[in-house]
Amino acid sequence: MNLLGDLIEELEKSGKTYDIPQIERAFHTADHYHEGQKRKSGEPYIIHPVAVAKILCELGMDSDTIVAAILHDVVEDTPMTLEEVKSEFGPDVALMVDGVTKITQMQLSTKEEQQAENVRKMLFGMSQDIRVIIIKLCDRLHNMRTMQYQPGYKQREKSLEVMEVFAPIAHRLGIRPVKEELEDYALQYLDPVGYEEIEKALQIRKEQRDEFITTIQSKISERMEEAKIPFHIEGRVKSIYGIYRKVYMQGKSFDEIYDVYAVRIIVDSIFECYNVMGVMHDLFTPLPGRFKDYISTPKPNMYQSLHTTVISKEGIPFEIQIRTWEMHRTAEYGVAAHWKYKAGIQGRDRLEERLSWVRQLLEVQKDSNDASDILRSIKSDLTPDDVFVYTPKGDMKCLPTGATPIDFAYAIHSAVGNRMIGAKIDGKIAPLDTHLHTGEIVEILTTKAQNHGPSRGWLQIAKTSEARNKIRAWFKKERREENIAQGKEEIEQEFKRSGIVLTGEQYQEFIQDIATRQHFPNPTELYAAIGYGGFQLSRVLPRIKDDYLKRYRKNDAPLPEVPVKKKTTHASGGVVVEGLDNCLVKFSRCCNPLPGDDIIGFITRGYGVSIHKQDCLNIAAAMSSEEQRARLVQVYWANEIRDAFKSTIEIVGEDRKGFLADVSLQISNMQIQLDELNARKLKDGYDHITITVTINSLEQLKMIITRFSNLSGVISVRRTGK
Ligand code: MN
Repeated sequence: MNLLGDLIEELEKSGKTYDIPQIERAFHTADHYHEGQKRKSGEPYIIHPVAVAKILCELGMDSDTIVAAILHDVVEDTPMTLEEVKSEFGPDVALMVDGVTKITQMQLSTKEEQQAENVRKMLFGMSQDIRVIIIKLCDRLHNMRTMQYQPGYKQREKSLEVMEVFAPIAHRLGIRPVKEELEDYALQYLDPVGYEEIEKALQIRKEQRDEFITTIQSKISERMEEAKIPFHIEGRVKSIYGIYRKVYMQGKSFDEIYDVYAVRIIVDSIFECYNVMGVMHDLFTPLPGRFKDYISTPKPNMYQSLHTTVISKEGIPFEIQIRTWEMHRTAEYGVAAHWKYKAGIQGRDRLEERLSWVRQLLEVQKDSNDASDILRSIKSDLTPDDVFVYTPKGDMKCLPTGATPIDFAYAIHSAVGNRMIGAKIDGKIAPLDTHLHTGEIVEILTTKAQNHGPSRGWLQIAKTSEARNKIRAWFKKERREENIAQGKEEIEQEFKRSGIVLTGEQYQEFIQDIATRQHFPNPTELYAAIGYGGFQLSRVLPRIKDDYLKRYRKNDAPLPEVPVKKKTTHASGGVVVEGLDNCLVKFSRCCNPLPGDDIIGFITRGYGVSIHKQDCLNIAAAMSSEEQRARLVQVYWANEIRDAFKSTIEIVGEDRKGFLADVSLQISNMQIQLDELNARKLKDGYDHITITVTINSLEQLKMIITRFSNLSGVISVRRTGK
């Protein structure tokens, strides 16, 4: 086995210039320090860093990255110190090794507040030198390739990290082959059954498929030659995870997935791209609504291509992707293209733009302690399906599925979003939470009023992180005093509800400690962050209560039991799984639960939850084992529970002193969340108070209306708007 020789051969084959003596020195150093260490497979440890270096070579990374990759585990696992790496191989390499070591030590799959801190640190490392995360991605890729030697829990834990953190980052950075391989391996451990099913389905059709692609390719080539356009053509099959998403998560049948087969045509210029599109639409019948122009509207990860789905003579739909060579390089290598192609892609690899995405994310998340929020930001905007909508002037915007007029407005400009008072879709006024569809013309109605701004409720409606970030930024900047007041009030109410009673002095001391622990310079900043939604108090409340008990509570009486505010969960497949957001749900075949049945969820060894009838025999069997019982979770049919929704109520009453105070007292007594309150005296001589509240059920709404109706002087109470 000649590890070093093989690596050098690879490096030389790449056609790039590498500092071979330096790389050899790195190899001998690592080899020396890892001497005697073994991987789980029983092989010498050095195999791993060299394999990582090879993957990085395939991506075309530079000498320093290769050196750092070879040394990436020495500081973590051997006596060699970072100082020594620095003096031997220079500060750049040392910085990368340090960065990779730090990420390796992080717990990314924990659901603690710690996770937020760790993801943030990782992003910070990325913004310093993006090569750190590229090495880490390849490190994880090689570990996934050799995961079969690890125990089951490790496989699952690492695979979850891949799905949650690493694959989305690889996608964001546009490194397609690494992203797809990571996902396919992770899926294999998270849902072995689902993975195998798809693999088998692909296998059965392999011959037909190969034949199909060959026929199509030769047909296209013939026509392209007639048209005298120089081109390159290749056929590809979607990745297993890509198909899995469509089959299991979007519930499509295998035959409904149009882009299982894709043909890619690469040409020299953008002009030719559009030209070829026309030629293809002439050759095959295009499927309506499936044309996507990612050239004029690139994806957020800078992917560019024209996509269209057409139908072959045999009636089989397939996707055609058309792009230039430059776009192709970006599509395949993403950020790595900066190193692979000298001086980037004609100096336009947009490394800076990619880095600015990381920096922007850090900036916005600076005082958010909600890990799921950061992870959502990494992942959002990258959903595989997009909608294309138009401004009245015909400018196209590409938004993720489920996007609303709010997302559209902020995609145009912050100022448009901040001044929005309504929206028209195809000429008709539409609610702001309407989901947009491809082809719609959206007109945003704005006001010129100087101090108009977004509503806090929009944060729940907006789909893109861009819109949410801009809304938060507005509140952060424009409403500081209001945020501080709201944050303070929220804390005090939460304390009251949790039975935390403190003297003024104790309160000051206690709140200062909370602020310090959450990295705020002082309580005011903590209040402000809670106020604009950058910090969720509920996430740290258990710890606060613990602290309080330890420090101030003399007797052993427990704190009063408070009903936990239920997190709004999203329904997947018509079912809501308690505590799991957007999780994958499969209906079990053994008992075939139907809506209305009493159901229960079982966390499968795979990725997600299978839904059974409560009286299913398999569930009865599971109940008999301690270990299996722990995997049962509560699930509900989505239409049986209502997510919290907003309701606007108008209360009309006699103009009397204290009327407004009575109304707000009622609101606070009922412990409902007040989102907006407007009071004005109208010409009819009555006071009109409009409140918008967040409620959980129709019953609650009725109760609220009754309470208000019983107030003295009230003339009418009615629900308005939606
Ligand atoms: Mn490693």
